[in-house]
Amino acid sequence: LTKQTIEKIKEQNESVQAYLTINDKAIEQAKAIDEAGIDPDSIFSGIPIALKDNLVTKEMKTTAASKMLENFTSIFDATVVEKLKAAGAVFVGKTNMDEFAMGSSTENSAFATTRNPWNLDTVPGGSSGGSAATVSAGQVLASLGSDTGGSIRQPAAFTGVVGMKPTYGRVSRWGLIAFGSSFDQIGPFTRNVKDNAHLLNVIAGHDEHDATSSLKEVPDFAEGIDQGVKGLKIALPKEFLGDGVKPEIKEAIQKAAETYKSLGATVEEVSLPNTKYGVMAYYVLASSEASSNLERFDGIRYGFRAPEVKNLEDLYVKTRSEGFGDEVKRRIMIGTFSLSAGSFDKYFKQAAKVRTKIINDFQKVFKDYDLIMTPTATSTAFKIGEESSDPMEMYLNDALTIPVNLAGLPGMSLPAGFSNGLPIGLQLIGRPFDEKTIYRAGYAFE
Ligand code: GLN
Repeated sequence: LTKQTIEKIKEQNESVQAYLTINDKAIEQAKAIDEAGIDPDSIFSGIPIALKDNLVTKEMKTTAASKMLENFTSIFDATVVEKLKAAGAVFVGKTNMDEFAMGSSTENSAFATTRNPWNLDTVPGGSSGGSAATVSAGQVLASLGSDTGGSIRQPAAFTGVVGMKPTYGRVSRWGLIAFGSSFDQIGPFTRNVKDNAHLLNVIAGHDEHDATSSLKEVPDFAEGIDQGVKGLKIALPKEFLGDGVKPEIKEAIQKAAETYKSLGATVEEVSLPNTKYGVMAYYVLASSEASSNLERFDGIRYGFRAPEVKNLEDLYVKTRSEGFGDEVKRRIMIGTFSLSAGSFDKYFKQAAKVRTKIINDFQKVFKDYDLIMTPTATSTAFKIGEESSDPMEMYLNDALTIPVNLAGLPGMSLPAGFSNGLPIGLQLIGRPFDEKTIYRAGYAFE
């Protein structure tokens, strides 16, 4: 299986370009598992899996698709990598992404442009575009991505696969190269809902290396997945079906609502009035956190160092000017500005208040409803190059996923039809730590 997987990846990497690194030791590792015998208690024993290139690994480079880390290899494995290894998974490679996970199309990678397997002229979404594309192309059954504002769910929607962003704290972030630490979560991409639940089973749980990882007990996410949705109360927020959403997407989501009703759930319209400020608050808060997290790339501690410098200050300036791409620099500038003494009250503090209002909106709805359903993205996959010159247009891609990160809630995208040969995504949002209900409803729908 691993041999075939690697062959297929290599054959398609010229066109799809899902991978930055293909693991040449994978076949050897699979052989070792064969010789030791497949572990009957682990369904991932001997199964090829792909990792986003911001999850650190000892055996392969980790670049975060940045020139800054072009030749960087970690001295330790991320916790999710360790857990998957223990489950017997075989890592076939590291997938392409937007540099430091900043973007919605994977076009911000310093090294490659990943393509959407459904139509090679379109983007796979981002920032976890490579992890989505490899599952969508049928190269692997599963991969891991990370989601700060939509980077698992939007690419899942664009490529027609299942992508889960778990509750903040459900999965350890140890070894995930930090972007916005109060938003970032690691999560699985799979071809179907049940596989997704099984993969979350492996990676979830408290970790002493990540103080924000939750002590809450981890249920078996796949157990009872086939219970159906009879009696479930689902909310349909009207702000998520507004003017910015393409008509064909609205139609698919209305149809999904009808399907849920026919399966015995109730679906009712609700309002989340403050979510429309989500994108604005997110770009202040996430960029502020990014500007602080990315301080460590100074030319001394990790990766790239500019040659021919005059003094220490020159080393910092040249390394960061040459090592970071435009979008990363833009975020550092926005973040540093928002945190500066003169603007902190006006921007950071205001954005933090908006975040609280959005959290309250969700809490109110979850008093009466078990789930919220929305479109994942406002459109289907757009053409390569179509939005890359306009950062604002690119930022609006995540209008429907960002509020979920602001509130730390679990959210999953799953396929809900096609328009012009391109997949449409349905987003299911749950109460904190209630990924189980999301999986149950997803399983009933697919
Ligand atoms: N597209 C959003 C951004 O650029 C979200 C990215 C992500 O979730 N990592 O910030």
